[in-house]
Amino acid sequence: MNLSKLLLIATNGDIKKGDITGTCVVCGAETESGIPLKKMVSDNFTGWNCLFSGNCMCPECAFIFSDQTFRRRSWLASENGFKTFKNDEACSILFSPPASPFFIHIAKIGQKQTWLRCMNSVANNPNQYWFSHENYDIPILFEKNKAQLYLDMVLAALDMKITKTELRTGEFKPKTWTMAYEKGCQDFLRGLGKFKRDPLWEVIVDVARRRE
Ligand SMILES: [Zn+2]
Repeated sequence: MNLSKLLLIATNGDIKKGDITGTCVVCGAETESGIPLKKMVSDNFTGWNCLFSGNCMCPECAFIFSDQTFRRRSWLASENGFKTFKNDEACSILFSPPASPFFIHIAKIGQKQTWLRCMNSVANNPNQYWFSHENYDIPILFEKNKAQLYLDMVLAALDMKITKTELRTGEFKPKTWTMAYEKGCQDFLRGLGKFKRDPLWEVIVDVARRRE
């Protein structure tokens, strides 16, 4: 099942058939009921680098372009339904997704359809699956054990008032190092620096919320 079909099932959406024959730029499938591209995307559409070469969209893929919710909001789709969510919920949703197949997209400013790169990456295993986050043009692999380790470390670091920017970049302020030496946790701090540039680490830093 590709992502367009999953979203159609999840939202119980209606598809509208077009009347041209050709190749769908979103999923690459041949179609006899394609919708011309000029009816689907505006002149300032920025996602061309994510698309196949082709001349139309198939009805299923046209559907996911017809509703701006999929671009603007964070969402979760499965055969049991579709829901948008606030990013405060993103962490618990990543760790406890619905029954497979499902797909999770985390929006930040709601401008980029980064799930375009995930058309064939619908999730089938809650412990290891691909998801989309607007800051990344590539699908991101959620590996539950690794993600749990990352989350534990990030929460401990946030408890110590280390900032998300420091965690993401792996570059810590002098006062953070001073604090770490005073508490005898300099090895922990050094360890945190090892994960920079790992997209899953960066996403866990993004979705983690400081414990009360
Ligand atoms: Zn398609």
